[in-house]
Amino acid sequence: MNNISRRALLGQAAATLAFSTVPWAAARAAESKASPFKTPINAPTLGYEQAALAPIISANTVGFHFGKHHLGYFNKLKELVPEKDLASMTLEDLVQRHAPAAGANPSAIFNNAAQVWNHNFYWASLRGDGGGTPGKALLTAIEKDFDSFGNFRDKFVAASVAQFGSGWAWLVKDKSTGKLAIVTTSNALTPITDPKLVPLCVVDVWEHAYYLDYQNKRADYAKAVFDKLINWGFAEANLAA
Ligand code: MN
Repeated sequence: MNNISRRALLGQAAATLAFSTVPWAAARAAESKASPFKTPINAPTLGYEQAALAPIISANTVGFHFGKHHLGYFNKLKELVPEKDLASMTLEDLVQRHAPAAGANPSAIFNNAAQVWNHNFYWASLRGDGGGTPGKALLTAIEKDFDSFGNFRDKFVAASVAQFGSGWAWLVKDKSTGKLAIVTTSNALTPITDPKLVPLCVVDVWEHAYYLDYQNKRADYAKAVFDKLINWGFAEANLAA
């Protein structure tokens, strides 16, 4: 996580409109290596139109999910953290500094900061014409660590479904083993508090992510998102960073 993208850092500081394009979202579209791992604590941006993920995720769902949930976490965070800290720290610093000890209840600052980060990462993990298979470097790594892309897909969907209650399904690189892994986290918990793990992409499996479109059928949401929306260029950039 030492690869700071100066361009992303400076560019995002200037992005304040809710639906303007964040630099790493734009960079992602260009398949660049920009990474969101050092982000200023600014109002989140979606990076595309609310209808961009339809029909897999409707504009209605994105409107509530981004406009109420994601922005809600950010607005709550602004109430909890002194302004000078918001201005001087990165979002990652804030999340890591407030990470709960094992078994402890997370603080409100952690929960809101981590949810802002996780949602930034989620929107960037998706694109309207996504899905398919990743480029060669990531595909080769997936085939090595999961036997086949199809097997990986089934395991990722199964993990998304098996996460009990609210949470997230992540593809990560584990630096201690050099291998890719699928991990799930509950509520606001996030791999960026584990120095061994580099998240590559994520699917939000909180009910608010799918209930308007899929009701209780989380598996249908998880399969559709994996097959049609995952932004493999973003995951590849994170692997390369
Ligand atoms: Mn969410």
